[in-house]
Amino acid sequence: MNQLIKELRNETFNEMVHYYAKNESERIIINQVIENSPVRVTPYLKKLMSKYESIRKQFLPSPLEAQTNGTATPFEEGKKTSHVYGLERLYKDRVLLTPHFDCPAYCRFCYKKSRVMRNRKSMTFDEIDLAVEEIGKMPEVRGALITGGDPFMDTTKLFYLLDQLSALKNISEIRIGTRMLLNSPEKFTSDICNHLASYIKPNFHNPAKSKYLAINVHFNHPDELQPEVLQACYKLTSNGITLRNQTVLLKGINDDANTIKRLFHLLLRNNIIIYYMNHCMPVEGSDHLRISVQKGLDIYKQLCTESSCSIPHYVYAPSGGKVHVGPDSSFDYAEINGVKMIKTKLLYKADDFRSIAKKNLPPMHSETKDGMIEGYYIDGED
Ligand code: SF4
Repeated sequence: MNQLIKELRNETFNEMVHYYAKNESERIIINQVIENSPVRVTPYLKKLMSKYESIRKQFLPSPLEAQTNGTATPFEEGKKTSHVYGLERLYKDRVLLTPHFDCPAYCRFCYKKSRVMRNRKSMTFDEIDLAVEEIGKMPEVRGALITGGDPFMDTTKLFYLLDQLSALKNISEIRIGTRMLLNSPEKFTSDICNHLASYIKPNFHNPAKSKYLAINVHFNHPDELQPEVLQACYKLTSNGITLRNQTVLLKGINDDANTIKRLFHLLLRNNIIIYYMNHCMPVEGSDHLRISVQKGLDIYKQLCTESSCSIPHYVYAPSGGKVHVGPDSSFDYAEINGVKMIKTKLLYKADDFRSIAKKNLPPMHSETKDGMIEGYYIDGED
């Protein structure tokens, strides 16, 4: 076994943080990087990292993070779009709630690792009350996505929010986004899973009044599907909770069709729906983990020959919203200040964005002649 890997099992946190530093100057670079984007892993992840490079690369900083074209907030989510703290609305039919802004581990490719995002305080119980009251006044909103940070970091608050949301007449679809199943699978006790299942309320006589709860999980590599992790997933699915997986394409980790196919086949066999395959956002410090959107499309085309159960939505996300890529998609490129960009038209109307989000279009976005939003997306490099 590689000596470094052996050492990782017992080393102090400080040594682990510098795992990818080849020399003293790279240690210094990493120290600078983690000033703004600190490292955090759970004990369970630490155990997995001693065995799997695919997991180390997702959580340990690289000196390459210092060379970046990315930004700390590449997406509108997380930017203030409502007068109620923790509540955001970017779309007509759904809202986003962030009861807890912090995560138990920081993924190096995610914008929520940065101080900008982490230093936000959690919603108070009063703020949750206010947010729910506000959502009750939005008749077109039928869905709520509870996101983070990780909502499972504070289950008391999560259940308080779920109690109130599920009591609203207009809310029938509740989704929770989490990576806790990988970060700390032991958190999913039978009590927690049973409690979550209690929010699924089918109405067989009037199905329009049924309410459901689903969890959006996040697995990027087959190495993550350890027995403890799959057992925790099973506790949820066997209680009737739908799990849908969102994968981020990451250079040197899962950017080949075989790895992605293997991951998706394992997920399917374990009752987890293949949902999204996300192109890695242009997050500050993540350039070395980003492939081009075109390379993602090449992988996607190879998935399209599989059973339709293993074909995800492949998307990339400029600040203004997601763009779906199909097997026949092509891209319009532009170079701005030496950076390769994809120029793209979004599915959203500029007027809708302004009236729903109550703000102007994001930077590098404009309105087309037919009233849609057009924007630029920083491409990755292969
Ligand atoms: S929000 Fe999810 S992907 Fe982002 S750092 Fe937290 S756990 Fe990782």
